[in-house]
Amino acid sequence: MRILLTGGAGFIGSALTRELLSRGHEVRVLDLLTYAGIAASLTELESDSAYSFVHADIADPVAVAAIFADFQPEAVAHLAAETHVDRSIDGPAVFVRTNVLGTQVLLDEALATWRALSGEAREAFRFLHVSTDEVFGSLGDEGRFSETSPYDPRSPYAASKAASDHLVRAWGHTFGLPVIISNCSNNYGPRQFPEKLIPTMILRALRGETLPVYGDGSNVRDWLFVEDHARALADMLERGAPGRTYAVGGDAERSNLQLVRALCDVLDRERPAADGRSHAERIVMVEDRPGHDRRYAIDAGRIRQDLGWAAQVEFDEGLEGTVRWYLDNENWWSPLVAGQQGLARLGSPGA
Ligand code: NAD
Repeated sequence: MRILLTGGAGFIGSALTRELLSRGHEVRVLDLLTYAGIAASLTELESDSAYSFVHADIADPVAVAAIFADFQPEAVAHLAAETHVDRSIDGPAVFVRTNVLGTQVLLDEALATWRALSGEAREAFRFLHVSTDEVFGSLGDEGRFSETSPYDPRSPYAASKAASDHLVRAWGHTFGLPVIISNCSNNYGPRQFPEKLIPTMILRALRGETLPVYGDGSNVRDWLFVEDHARALADMLERGAPGRTYAVGGDAERSNLQLVRALCDVLDRERPAADGRSHAERIVMVEDRPGHDRRYAIDAGRIRQDLGWAAQVEFDEGLEGTVRWYLDNENWWSPLVAGQQGLARLGSPGA
């Protein structure tokens, strides 16, 4: 398939680009290279003739129309977004522009492209929208999110993703565009921008800094290794049913405090602190994120049953591999954290 992939210079997008190329697809990445778009995440793919890159803003209808006309995609994988909850607290406007308006621009162009197709190409066309479990709000101690969970977004980020999900569904129902939505839990793995929890903790630990955990550390997330997620998304593009939503999770619930302690254990083995103390001694509890959702967890039964997908990377193994990747790839992350940039707290209460 000829696949237009938005947000391919990001964390999940670069993993999905690799997965799709390895399955023999042709991939054109469309990315604005915002602060979170890292060209170095794609450099090693440049020699692959099935890969190409175009620099553009998904919210620019003229640029997007030209890209669709030139590439003539047989499927769209839409991952480009503003993604950091803390940034959405400090400045929500760009989240609405990119996540909501940008999605509408892509849907319009995908619809025009799909309508011009006939026969098998029209049957096979898919618009895959990559969304989050955060659109469902917050869970208590029991239960898990699934495809039928009601929408209840709490942060500006989650609200912008929920809005984009509704637009995608509307283009499916109203115009017949063959859309698929994926709502997945927190991803972790190589090439995640340093501002997110796991890389922040690894890189702060390497600098001998404190490891700040929000609130009492009991907020729970269900962690999914990024390459498992990429396989799920590729399966959806190849075999997912139009109009379907798939919830994707790693069956690896951890509280934030458990997660940071596990990271410290790996770091104590792989890169012991210079003073001989455990990294965990630098954990400090700090004021909570405003509106911090308590718990997310996913029931991935449908994608297991429909597509035969299952997470393959066990959490401890994935976490260890992630730490090693950051230890081995300082060239990738060091330009992103020059000074405090990339590791400083954002979205503070009253900021
Ligand atoms: P990321 O922040 O690492 O990457 C986002 C990419 O989008 C960057 O390359 C950036 O340059 C690009 N981008 C931003 N605005 C753009 C614009 N206007 N035009 C074109 N490109 C633009 O994000 P990620 O963590 O890889 O997430 C990818 C998708 O998966 C997002 O839609 C996100 O909502 C969703 N998601 C992420 C997670 C997670 O844990 N990371 C979980 C669930 C869902």
